[in-house]
Amino acid sequence: MPIFEYLCLACGTLFEKLQKSAGDEAPPCPACGSAQVKRKLSSFAAPPSSTPSAGCSGGG
Ligand SMILES: [Zn+2]
Repeated sequence: MPIFEYLCLACGTLFEKLQKSAGDEAPPCPACGSAQVKRKLSSFAAPPSSTPSAGCSGGG
């Protein structure tokens, strides 16, 4: 399950929450209980340049 980061717009608390899907509703702030939270874009590091296995062996 992906972990999303949320930023409370009311008190500015940054918290993480496990979400089953990206379309789930944002959880309330654990600090103040406000629903004014904004989900931050998860900018996880991309995997090292993996060579695309695009081998097109032409058959005879
Ligand atoms: Zn808050």
